[in-house]
Amino acid sequence: MDNVSFKDLENKVTTYIHNPDDLKRIYEAYLFADEKHKNQMRKSGDPYITHPLHVAIILAELHVGPDTIIAGLLHDVVEDTNVVLNEIKTKFGDDVAGMVDGVTKLTNMKFTSLEQKQAENHQKMLLAMGKDIRVIVVKLADRLHNIRTIDAQSPEKRERICKETLEIYAPLAHRLGMFKIKAELEDRSLRYTDPVMFKKIEEDISSTNSARLENIDHIIIEIKKYLTDEHVSDFEIKGRVKNIYSIYKKMINQHKEFEDIYDVLAIRIIVDTIDNCYRVLGLIHAKYTPVPKRFKDYIAVPKPNMYQSLHTTVISGDGLTFEVQIRTKEMDEVAELGIAAHWAYKENVTYSKEKEQFEIASKLKWYADLLQFNEEDKDESDPKKFVDSIRKDILTTSVYVYTPTGDVIDLPKGATPLDLAYKIHTELGNTMIGALVNKRIVPLDYELQNGDIVSIRTNKNSQGPTASWLKIAKTTHARHKIKSFLNKQNKDVLIDSGKRQLEEEFQNQRIYSYELKDDFVNENFGKNNIQTVEDLYMEIGKGTLSEKTVVAKYIGVVKRAKEDIIQQSIAKFNRNQKHISETGVVVDGLTNPQIKLAVCCYPIPGDPIVGYITKGSGIVVHHRDCKNLTTLQNERLIDLMWDTVINRKYPVMLKILASNNNQLLAEVMNTFSSFNINVSSLNVKNNLNLETIIKVKIMVSNLAELEKVITNLKKISAINEIRREGL
Ligand code: MN
Repeated sequence: MDNVSFKDLENKVTTYIHNPDDLKRIYEAYLFADEKHKNQMRKSGDPYITHPLHVAIILAELHVGPDTIIAGLLHDVVEDTNVVLNEIKTKFGDDVAGMVDGVTKLTNMKFTSLEQKQAENHQKMLLAMGKDIRVIVVKLADRLHNIRTIDAQSPEKRERICKETLEIYAPLAHRLGMFKIKAELEDRSLRYTDPVMFKKIEEDISSTNSARLENIDHIIIEIKKYLTDEHVSDFEIKGRVKNIYSIYKKMINQHKEFEDIYDVLAIRIIVDTIDNCYRVLGLIHAKYTPVPKRFKDYIAVPKPNMYQSLHTTVISGDGLTFEVQIRTKEMDEVAELGIAAHWAYKENVTYSKEKEQFEIASKLKWYADLLQFNEEDKDESDPKKFVDSIRKDILTTSVYVYTPTGDVIDLPKGATPLDLAYKIHTELGNTMIGALVNKRIVPLDYELQNGDIVSIRTNKNSQGPTASWLKIAKTTHARHKIKSFLNKQNKDVLIDSGKRQLEEEFQNQRIYSYELKDDFVNENFGKNNIQTVEDLYMEIGKGTLSEKTVVAKYIGVVKRAKEDIIQQSIAKFNRNQKHISETGVVVDGLTNPQIKLAVCCYPIPGDPIVGYITKGSGIVVHHRDCKNLTTLQNERLIDLMWDTVINRKYPVMLKILASNNNQLLAEVMNTFSSFNINVSSLNVKNNLNLETIIKVKIMVSNLAELEKVITNLKKISAINEIRREGL
């Protein structure tokens, strides 16, 4: 029977919270929770209120502020009673409501599996923790009390809760530097997840303990005397308690025997100032032989979870090897309580969630990473993936390495220089060609070790990541960046190949000049979500769209456009018909004139022309030099012009005078045919002077063509003279 009461909480709280208003609010929260959980029982048979009371007590031991204590008291009322969040908001404020919401599980019944449900709840909590770090502190206190009382649960539930604790909550506590809570969560969970090993380690410890304790006691007494003789004041020496789970993990991960790990004795010296830390270190090194390469200065360079201490391993005169940790009181508190020690509640200082978040992010790099992660991947549709990548990249035991400029970078165990490069900057990763670790060239898949000084070698002209890098990178972040580079590169390749295929098809269709525009693509393929020319190339490259289809479509569209142009020009031509007759003669100012070409002078384009307006039968076009013109009335003559573009042949009559010759006619006809001139009538006569007269009507395009033909006819030796008939 658990007899915990509000008095127990009050005793703890009043050691550091004195403001009566705060104390009153805490009491009201207790009354509210007690009322709401009335008649509820825990599996152990205790009244439900004992659980939130214990959670609040754990929180009070961490010296958290009043709002966090209240959130601890109320953390289960939304999940397990009929209270809604708004009620908490009204009664206890936004911060308390936010924390309670952050630790309240989703009630959505649509979960496909228990795993899915767990992942969604973890995601919700991690996101809430990104907004208010106190959410995780409340959750850890909740989990700690549940683990302390887990015996009451069914074996299946026990195993599931312990597994979840080792995977998510203990790593979070570790990352927050809350060593005490972390160690308790781990050791209590291991008891159920691997009972056989747990028992074995527990027994091994107690069986070696007597000898161990004797040795430790002996050394502690020796050092105490030594430091006092050296006038070191105000120090304390403790033997170190080892966490069963951390021994377990070393045995499993490093395949070590219990003796290899536990053989090393460890003591801790706590002093008042940092100066004294180094002074004591010097004294220890003067008295005992230091083991080379085992000295670590976590004061100058704190661990990513803010842990600070000097570590060294020395050998005593009796040949005992033991580790010495030297640190200040404050550092020791941070080492046990982590973030909670650092941000312990201070009265009369206004609390700001945002300010705290900022401070934590600047001290705890991984928290800044988490915030960034939340920002970048909050749309991650699969909560399981989200939680897995946070676990892998952020929560697993980490190595920390140095950049050449001395920055400490924190990476998951097993990380390679690739992971480091991508963590610093995407571009650094994409142009990386190699890495130097401690000034030596290492392969890309080199596994980074704690304390490595890593410099990334880059080349602007590097080909960038390849698919094999995906196997080398350990972090989700680096893999994500490599994948997106490969996708983009792949996209470029597809676009190139699609473009080439399309060009070839155009050539096959004998189209050598074409222009593809986004409009064309959008109109014809938009319904398939292909909107730009680039999309089009890519789909062809992928093979989802045939280049033949595109070219056929293009031809169809262009043909239609051409037909449109022809239709338009026909319409325009028809409008202009009034002015241009089929004779090719333009008549100024007259509508629908009937025009005929005179058959006396046979005018052709290029000839100067004049029109004669007949009575009732339109205009007759004559050559200006027509011999008939003199007989016509001057006032009926009008000026005419040939159109600039004419596409027809005109008859013209030639009279050829030649000497009698057998070959003459053949030669004349050859000349016409060599100029592709059609002859429409031919008349040959011999006169009394033994001259031959040929009258021939031929079809020509214009005066220039006619003159060319005449020039060539004149080369025939028998021909004496050529005249145009009618002039
Ligand atoms: Mn609870």
